Amino acid sequence: MSSPAERLMAIQARIREAERQSGRPEGSVGLVAVSKTFTAEAIRELAEAGQRRFGESYLGEALEKIEALRDLGLEWHFIGPIQSNKTRGIATHFAWVHGVDRVRIAARLNEQRPPDLPPLQVCVQINISGEATKSGVPPEEASGLIREIVDMPRLRLRGLMAIPAPATEVHESRAPFRQLRELLLELKADWPGLDTLSMGMSDDFEEAIAEGATLIRIGSAIFGARPPARG
Ligand SMILES: *Cc1c(COP(=O)(O)O)cnc(C)c1O
Repeated sequence: MSSPAERLMAIQARIREAERQSGRPEGSVGLVAVSKTFTAEAIRELAEAGQRRFGESYLGEALEKIEALRDLGLEWHFIGPIQSNKTRGIATHFAWVHGVDRVRIAARLNEQRPPDLPPLQVCVQINISGEATKSGVPPEEASGLIREIVDMPRLRLRGLMAIPAPATEVHESRAPFRQLRELLLELKADWPGLDTLSMGMSDDFEEAIAEGATLIRIGSAIFGARPPARG
């Protein structure tokens, strides 16, 4: 049995290889280790192995771990669906939010981001065809939402995020990633500062990297199989 730290090393090697194969500079893909449902001790072990970015989906358990690991100065990414009654906790304790898909949620995060912290880094979640969740704006509504978010001073819009449904054939699995890349390219005509494509998980991150992912979100391939979510 390998440990989470050993699996992290193996994933990092695969990321570097995928970067090479797609002719992308070494280090152009950032890894968010998705620690939802896993313990603070497991996160600490990975932090000691050099991992800095961690992704959480459930605010309650995330806040316990963030508090327990405060000494490490980790970078926390909120990647779950965002309910309005959770925005204050997210705005206060996270550096990034990946799943913004409504103006109202963005406005609350903007109002509630504490003034002593840097702006909250935000990705707009897009519901590309076959998306595995109900979250996300349809691609044709992305620019409308972005137009509102770029005027919010306590948010810094970085790019797009998506969660495609699992592909049934390897050759199909790149299509949604390509769609997201092309959408970002279109939006960059109006907002050249957009630089982030948050896409790719344990089972498809190499395809996502081939299509330009800049942040991949990997949980089970590092931590092991997840127990059922506690919500
Ligand atoms: C859980 C989750 C992941 C990680 O999924 P794995 O298949 O375990 O790598 C990535 N992104 C989001 C939004 C998630 O909720």
